[in-house]
Amino acid sequence: MQRFFQVRFFRAAIACLLLVISACAARSSDPSSSTGAPRYIFFFIGDGMGMAQISLGAAVCGEEAVSAIRSLPVTGMISTSARDRYVTGSAAAGTALATGSRTAIGRISRTADNASDLTTLLELAEEQGMRTGVVSSVSLDHATPACFYAHAESRHQYERIASMMAESSVDYFGGGYVKADMSVDGVAKNGFPEIMRSSGFRVTRNAEELQSVTPGERVWAFDDVDRKAAMAYEIDRSDSALSLADYTRHGIRLLDNPRGFFMMVEGGKIDWACHANDGATTALDVRAFNDAVAEALRFYREHPDETLIIVTADHECGGLGLGNNETGYEGDPALLSYQQLSLERMSGKVSSWAEDGGVSLAMAYDSLRVFFGLGRVSADSALGLTAADSLQLNRAYQEAMDGYRDGEAYGKGDPLTMTAAALLNSRAGIGWTTRSHTAVDVPVFAAGTGAGQFSGYSTNSGLARRLMQVCGWSE
Ligand SMILES: [Zn+2]
Repeated sequence: MQRFFQVRFFRAAIACLLLVISACAARSSDPSSSTGAPRYIFFFIGDGMGMAQISLGAAVCGEEAVSAIRSLPVTGMISTSARDRYVTGSAAAGTALATGSRTAIGRISRTADNASDLTTLLELAEEQGMRTGVVSSVSLDHATPACFYAHAESRHQYERIASMMAESSVDYFGGGYVKADMSVDGVAKNGFPEIMRSSGFRVTRNAEELQSVTPGERVWAFDDVDRKAAMAYEIDRSDSALSLADYTRHGIRLLDNPRGFFMMVEGGKIDWACHANDGATTALDVRAFNDAVAEALRFYREHPDETLIIVTADHECGGLGLGNNETGYEGDPALLSYQQLSLERMSGKVSSWAEDGGVSLAMAYDSLRVFFGLGRVSADSALGLTAADSLQLNRAYQEAMDGYRDGEAYGKGDPLTMTAAALLNSRAGIGWTTRSHTAVDVPVFAAGTGAGQFSGYSTNSGLARRLMQVCGWSE
């Protein structure tokens, strides 16, 4: 009997030893399981997206339009200032979020004195053997995406940044084209796709081609882009063009592997819509960004113990206020849903009217009715035009026909479009304080492994450092 117990004990001890050995072996090949660190990391940045932009998305498009963002259980808040300026820019803010260090305005993951590169979250993920992805609705050599894979003294060094994109080890680029390859009149020169191909990337130009890419292939995916090498605003996007959510879903499909992945997804055109003080377009781009977050949430539900989702912003843009003096307590942002296209696209139309002639004042009013709802009192009495409104619009029409030429940055367009937008914004009860960024704090939402670390208040660089700690990438 004693011998029997001795054998049982010996066998049990061997089994325990084997278990420990196999657990250790598993841990050494699987960095996440030993530390409780997330294996799949999503870092979403709504460029220019303050709390008001999220609220506007819900007010214009319905609660569903922001439900993925708002469903994340952990919330926090971050400051946004650059090292050398109170109101930040996307390069300095992107650097803080990508590296955990604040820097000077214009730097792309370089120190403020430009003495050295700052290591990015994406590079740290690569060191762990994770696959990596960079998705943006603006050009991929634009400040925010660039901060994750490039290092440059200035965000305006587009060619240098694009060459770093080609030389990078990123597995998946999706969304925008590159500004470095656009001619001065906004036409793609098409030299850069060849450079990417020779660097080992497959280049896809539509949904079908992207679908044919298999996991493990490195890819740069884009389709319709505008003259600034960005995706269309969501409000203007054709049904056949890939959405930010599509690029995110394909990113998950292509990056998913046992070693994990890090994917940064930027809703870059929220910022551009806010620079243009374009309320309806802002709301729809917030919805597009939310839908991309929803793709990550779907993945998270399948891998709840190994996934971390962070959603934040680099700064607010436009000084968007939900309430104004014209409407007092009676503002109704839902009126913005009558707007059918971006101010940028409307300005393009007005520009061609001015060049081609033949669009009378009456025809212009018809367009304002169709595209902005202005004058549709049968739909909503708040859309009615007073005599003073008509006088303003008549003058703006004449000014536009008398010599408006397109070309101002960020869609600060022709007088007719600007006047129509100002009327609709004012009726909807929203207001803008600026066409630039503001210094207000921005929200953080998080879910998944380590998400609890992101509650409370932090600096933007502090958020990135928390992420490094959660992932076990720093002491
Ligand atoms: Zn901006």
